[in-house]
Amino acid sequence: MALPRLLARALHRAAAVSAPAAPDFNSFVVRTNTCGELRSAHVGQKVTLYGWIQYQRQGLFLVLRDFQGLTQIIIPQDEAHSHVKDLLSNAPVESVVRVTGIVSPRPPGQENPKMPTGDIEVKAETAEILNFCKKLPFEIKDFIKKSEALRMQYRYLDLRSLQLQHNLRLRSRVVMRMREYLCNLHGFVDVETPTLFKRTPGGAKEFLVPSREAGKFYSLPQSPQQFKQLLMVGGLDRYFQVARCYRDEGSRPDRQPEFTQIDIEMSFVDQAGIQRLIEGLLQYSWPEERGSITTPFPSMTYEEALAEYGTDKPDTRFGMKIVDISDVLRLSDIQFVQNALSYPRGTIRAICIPQGVRYLKNKDLESLKESAKSQFNQEIMEIIRRPDGSLKSLLTKFLGEKQQLELIQALNMQVDDVVLLAAGEHKQVCSALGSLRLLSASLLEAAGLALRDPTAFHFVWVVDFPLFLPKAENPTELESAHHPFTAPHPSDASLLHSDPTKVRSQHYDLVLNGNEVGGGSIRIHSAEQQRFVLEKVLKEDSEVLSHLLEALELGAPPHGGIALGLDRLISLIVDAPSIRDVIAFPKSFRGRDLMANAPDYVTPEELEPYHIQVSWPLEEKEAKKN
Ligand code: ASP
Repeated sequence: MALPRLLARALHRAAAVSAPAAPDFNSFVVRTNTCGELRSAHVGQKVTLYGWIQYQRQGLFLVLRDFQGLTQIIIPQDEAHSHVKDLLSNAPVESVVRVTGIVSPRPPGQENPKMPTGDIEVKAETAEILNFCKKLPFEIKDFIKKSEALRMQYRYLDLRSLQLQHNLRLRSRVVMRMREYLCNLHGFVDVETPTLFKRTPGGAKEFLVPSREAGKFYSLPQSPQQFKQLLMVGGLDRYFQVARCYRDEGSRPDRQPEFTQIDIEMSFVDQAGIQRLIEGLLQYSWPEERGSITTPFPSMTYEEALAEYGTDKPDTRFGMKIVDISDVLRLSDIQFVQNALSYPRGTIRAICIPQGVRYLKNKDLESLKESAKSQFNQEIMEIIRRPDGSLKSLLTKFLGEKQQLELIQALNMQVDDVVLLAAGEHKQVCSALGSLRLLSASLLEAAGLALRDPTAFHFVWVVDFPLFLPKAENPTELESAHHPFTAPHPSDASLLHSDPTKVRSQHYDLVLNGNEVGGGSIRIHSAEQQRFVLEKVLKEDSEVLSHLLEALELGAPPHGGIALGLDRLISLIVDAPSIRDVIAFPKSFRGRDLMANAPDYVTPEELEPYHIQVSWPLEEKEAKKN
């Protein structure tokens, strides 16, 4: 058969995804069933189970647990089985045991409808204690709240909890479905890229790894960005990887120094192509029990997101959007309004908190204002709509009846609503109000107003980001909004030379319920343009990227990609409070492994091959002496 036909057939076969059969949990092992499997239909069968003792009661029965569930085991009381009775009544909880026995119906009235195996019990005939468990540092029951530090120290015990078992298994299932979708349905190739690499300019801070060559270091990649682009130059065409990434960003809440991305790159694709791919991928891998998601996802520009939600990560599950009321107040005689509007990007904006009078206390409103002041240096003014429909505010005496009415209409203010108003520079005002929008939503919810549906998943694409942003530490210099490889918007490319701050990019972020769960871009594939961005706009030394620049000169196809933050995505799907709840062995807030105590000291001898000496801070030197 001709090669192309063979190839076509093989590809067709690979693409045909058959419905997965239920996995066989009992293959290759002696057990006949898991602890969650037995039902009335098994009555009379002789079974062998393995598991942990969940609890044991008065030498009469015990409950055996494994990853699938619980089974009640009846401890035999007759003389002939006294050995089994001895073993099972004296083994401490969490000991690992094998039990062989007969599945029997529970006596009438003793069924437990809350337990999937609640209609049966297993009458033990033989048993073996495979490992005795010492006294536990805490009980393995979900309802016992432990400190997170203790849970992380004994992570392997915490992993036995129902919640972590569920989270990690769901994560594995989702990733499996993603692989199916990408490789089997759409011809992606799973490629592993190195984790010992070199420093990349821009972006996050990287971890360094010493080498045996004096003064030379590897870097742990913050993402496989360069490799995935080089794979396109290498003709791989469609790449994906469940990629581990490393960022040395210090302690930040709900961040990990190492995390996992679903990393994707495609040749000959545009922004819409990547967006449709990701929508299809998420729809295909979305766990059934979480309902279904509708595609295409809505999209908004960066400017719209900032103007209406005060952030590039808009939580679109609820309203309370930021409203521009500059025009309503423009003709007023209010000094601070006129001041604000006299600046180039001056604006007056507000959010309306529904039923704020009823649900927010005075101290809540004070703390909202305080937070705008301390975080954004932004003053906030409040307006309340009284039951008689009139407005209460320091502002009202400056406003005519018509203006007051316009204000009520612009903000759709109902009786008992509270409006928070800010005047000043566009970005500062919007950012402050965006933050107040989220804070007040949490306050309203804490007070009992149902605002955000906890089971809802609102995806939104944010597009048309600026290609460059002023550096926070020095606003006269520019940095990439995404990364230096992002291509300019085709219609703005000429501005790159004249006014780079005005260039929009082909960068897109995927946001879910106010969290960034993905981001990517169409890349620069012209060496000349890439060199210009690095050297002239970002003022970076392009020499460190000479390999990439050279590759772009040697037949690089147009390409683009995206990365989904797997930890964050899964934590939102399972509604976990932290990404640490979906990572088997997470690091602590300070980036430490509390179980094995890493990072740890090494001896000067171990450092010698790397030509490294530790210069100890004075206090630590003293502490080591004592
Ligand atoms: N490498 C980028 C990141 O880690 C994603 C991408 O542009 O594909 O955010």
